[in-house]
Amino acid sequence: MKFTELAANLDKMEATRSRNELVRILSDVYRASAADELEPLTYLIQGRLAPFFEPVEIGLGQMLLITAIAMAYGAPKEEVIKLNRQAGDLGLTAQRLAPASHRESPSVVEVHQRLSQIAAAGGAGSMQKKLDGFTSLLGDVDSVSAKHLVRMTLGKMRLGIGDPTVLDAMSFAKRGDRSLRPILEAAYNRTSDLGLIARTLWDSAEAGLEKLKVRAGHPLRPQLAERLPNPEAVIKKLGTVGVQPKYDGLRVQIHKEGGKVSIFSRNLESMTEMFPELVDAASGLKVQSVILDGEAIAYNPESEEYVPFQETTARRRKEGIQEFAARAPMRAFVFDVMFRDGSDLTPMHYEQRFEIVKELVRESDTLMTAPLMTTDSADVLTRELLDNISRGLEGVVAKRLDSPYQAGARNFNWVKLKRNTSGQLTDTIDVVLLGYYRGKGKRAEFGAGALLAGVYDGDKDEFVTISKLGTGLSDQGWRAIHQRLASLEVAEKPARVNSTFVPDAWLEPAIVVEVLADEITPSPRHTAGMTGDGPGFALRFPRIVSLRTADKKPEDATSVREIREMFEQQRQPGRGRSG
Ligand code: ATP
Repeated sequence: MKFTELAANLDKMEATRSRNELVRILSDVYRASAADELEPLTYLIQGRLAPFFEPVEIGLGQMLLITAIAMAYGAPKEEVIKLNRQAGDLGLTAQRLAPASHRESPSVVEVHQRLSQIAAAGGAGSMQKKLDGFTSLLGDVDSVSAKHLVRMTLGKMRLGIGDPTVLDAMSFAKRGDRSLRPILEAAYNRTSDLGLIARTLWDSAEAGLEKLKVRAGHPLRPQLAERLPNPEAVIKKLGTVGVQPKYDGLRVQIHKEGGKVSIFSRNLESMTEMFPELVDAASGLKVQSVILDGEAIAYNPESEEYVPFQETTARRRKEGIQEFAARAPMRAFVFDVMFRDGSDLTPMHYEQRFEIVKELVRESDTLMTAPLMTTDSADVLTRELLDNISRGLEGVVAKRLDSPYQAGARNFNWVKLKRNTSGQLTDTIDVVLLGYYRGKGKRAEFGAGALLAGVYDGDKDEFVTISKLGTGLSDQGWRAIHQRLASLEVAEKPARVNSTFVPDAWLEPAIVVEVLADEITPSPRHTAGMTGDGPGFALRFPRIVSLRTADKKPEDATSVREIREMFEQQRQPGRGRSG
């Protein structure tokens, strides 16, 4: 496929407001592609050159791209800057400046290769090499292609396609319907690599997908925890459970493959650079290959105290990691193992996997086992919960001892119990900001008066509204958030947003905010959970607790299914107050 043909289809996707239409266009693109084009194509439409977990960056920021556009089209840089200010989109700016071209377009594969070379350029003079490479690529494509090429390089595709849409498109391309989605999703949960899945489906059909197994170096999507209202409900539903402290740090998936260690976050981003202590510790493990699951938390060796989550995540800034490592060294409390020396351990019972964890990390001071106790008594579970809370932990996680590790699933294999908050809900909700209202008076000074927030519907790959947010932020907080909102503002409602509210400005769904509310109530106006004739859900007395941009993508926000469950749980009579 020529890149110009892909670009024309991306234009169609950009124009549509219908998700079915998005799936249809993308499935046409898949159908028209040759086998060796599937991987590059899949990464490029996501604004990537490789799967999300590989830290491959093209490495050309806005200013360098402006220089490249100026050089490619012989325009003064000032003009590019001015046009970009007017258009608010560097892709559109490139499209406007590009001459009508009658050249033969390079293929999708060639464009991917040339971008990969640009990404790989390193060392002295690499900036110039990157710049020259991109300038020459711009010179070889038509104007619509230039628009999408620039957006790919910035990682801002503005198409509104999430992973479920890509999986649906593959299924439609092969079968003409959504019937392959479950098997595609299962393979995706094990490998997190959409490109690999596309190629495997075309090369060796469903049997090939089933053979895609967990392997070291490739993160699997994490097992997630369900909620239940109190310890009694946990014992009633699960019987005997394993109970562990719930640490409030950062989820880490630690991979060792021969001499190489990689660490991935909850949303499967590479975080290897951030945790030199964990890398050292994992290198020393006496295994060829292993995948561990745990929670990393900065720990103060003098006071033997856990450092608050905010400080743990402060490490995301690249500077001063070594200094942080010396001041508040990280430990990882390891609670699971999914792979060891060539064997997939995910089908094994938790009890057995945990024995392997203990054996693996026995000699490490940095990788520690999260202690596990077993009980079938609600009283004992309550005592554990209170004890952990009094020690400064978040609560407990109860685990079914005979459960497999189910990648990507949120189910009752694990149940989280936290301290009850002041209101009725026992857990916070992670919402995605979808728009904002400018506000009046003092608030208008900060640029935003109220925020329109939503949750994620994974089946439809759609964001639906659940609340407006106006409290919880300091004046300084409002100013800071407005600055981030400005760069996400879009002229029209994004295709994946489903809302009856029309805010003053729409936002590309990107920022995840943790919110505490008293209650979930039915709402005739919010679209979260709305069915044909039934109402949706809203949050009563919501207030912002924190920003969750460090470890959650918008698709990792609380889901509609979870909101419905939380709504049902809060109505259960005789609900205890402890969990
Ligand atoms: P979720 O990860 O469930 O979407 P979240 O990120 O808001 O939600 P919580 O709801 O607080 O997190 O609880 C689940 C998280 O708890 C896990 O993802 C993991 O990071 C953390 N955690 C801490 N201790 C444990 C433990 N012992 N076992 C499992 N998870 C733990």
